[in-house]
Amino acid sequence: MARKRDFYDVLGVQNNVSEKELKRAYRKKAMQYHPDRYKGDKTQGEEKFKELNEAYSILSDFQQRQRCDRFGQAGNEGIGAAARGANPSDFFSSIFDNFDIGSIFGGGFGSTQRTRRQQQGPQRGENVVLDLSLSFEESYSGVSKKVKMPFYKPCPNCMGTGGEPDKGMKTCTTCRGSGIQEVQHRSGMFIQISREPCRKCEGRGQVPEVRCKTCRGAGHSGQREEIKVTIPKGIDSGEAVRVQGKGKPSNTGGMPGDLIFRINLKEHDTFERNGLDVYMRLPVDYPTLILGGTIQVPVIGSKGEDNTIALKIPGRSNISDVVKRNRTGFTRKIRGNEVSGDSYFVLSLRIPKKITKTQKELLKKLQLEFNHKK
Ligand SMILES: [Zn+2]
Ligand SMILES: [Zn+2]
Repeated sequence: MARKRDFYDVLGVQNNVSEKELKRAYRKKAMQYHPDRYKGDKTQGEEKFKELNEAYSILSDFQQRQRCDRFGQAGNEGIGAAARGANPSDFFSSIFDNFDIGSIFGGGFGSTQRTRRQQQGPQRGENVVLDLSLSFEESYSGVSKKVKMPFYKPCPNCMGTGGEPDKGMKTCTTCRGSGIQEVQHRSGMFIQISREPCRKCEGRGQVPEVRCKTCRGAGHSGQREEIKVTIPKGIDSGEAVRVQGKGKPSNTGGMPGDLIFRINLKEHDTFERNGLDVYMRLPVDYPTLILGGTIQVPVIGSKGEDNTIALKIPGRSNISDVVKRNRTGFTRKIRGNEVSGDSYFVLSLRIPKKITKTQKELLKKLQLEFNHKK
C-alpha cells in the first residue's frame, strides 16, 4: 500500500520548517490551487486545496504539530477530519486577512462572520463550537452523546431565509442594499461611528419579497434539534469532533455550517493521562515493598467493568519507583491500527491507619533487628 502523503509533503516543506516559512509555503500553494484560480481540473484542484488547508491547519498549531510528529497523521484524526470538512474558502480568507486560523475553535459563533457578511449570494451558515466534557472512561470506550442544539431548527418551508420560496428578494431599504449600518457610540465627549451589519437584513443587503407563511419571517421553527454525536475512543482534551451540516443554518439559502465539539476530559480521581499513557500513584504496604509481591491494581477501562489487573511489585522497591505495565492505557486507531498506551504505577508507602497488637510486636522485633544490624 502506498504511504499516504504526510502534511509536510503536502506543503512541500521539511519537518523542521519554521512557522514563517510554513505560512509562506501555504500561501504560495494556496494561491496556486484556490478554486477561483486553478486552471486545471476543477475537482482535482479542489481536492488539492482541501488537502492543503488540512495540512496547514494542523502544522500551524504548535500542539497539533507536536502530536503529529509523535503519533503521525492519525494522532490528529479528530482535528484532521474537522479541517477537512471546513469550507476551504474560510481558511483561505482567514489567512489572507490575517485572521487567526485557530479562531475556528476560539470564536464560538461565527468567527468568519466579518468576511462573509460582505459577500453576495447565498452564504454558508456559521460554524458552531460547543464544549463537550467527557470522563476518562468515556474516552476509553468511545461514546455516543445526545446533545440539544443551542439554536432553533431552520423553518422547513423557507430553509431559514424567512421568505416565501420562489417569491424572491428585494433590496433592503434600511441599508439601501449595502448590508452595512453606521452606528454611533457615545463615550464622554466623543462620538465613535462604527460600521456594523444592518440589523434589518442581517447584513445581507436584501430582504424577502414575501414573508414566509410558515415561520412568519423568523426563519426557524421554534424547535431545537437533538443530535447524536459519536466520539471515537481514545480522544483527548483539546481535540475536536466535527459534525457536518449541523452548525447554524444559513439565512441566505446556503448550506448550514458545521458543528464542532471541542473535547475536554474531566479530571479523574485515580488516574492522570499523558497521550495514551496513564499514570497513578500506588500505595503499597511496607512488607510488599521490601519483599516484593503481587497485588491487584486498577487500570483504565470501561465503566461498570472489573478493571483490575495483578501487578508484580519487585522486591526492595523504593517509594517513587515506577512499575510499568504495557498496553493497559488508552487505545485509539492510528493509521488503521489499534495502538495502546501503557500504565505507569508510581509507588508510595501505605501507612496503616490502625495496627493490631501482633503487628506491633512484629514491627518492634523488626525495628530491633534493623537497629542491631546497623
Ligand atoms: Zn419560514
Ligand atoms: Zn439592510
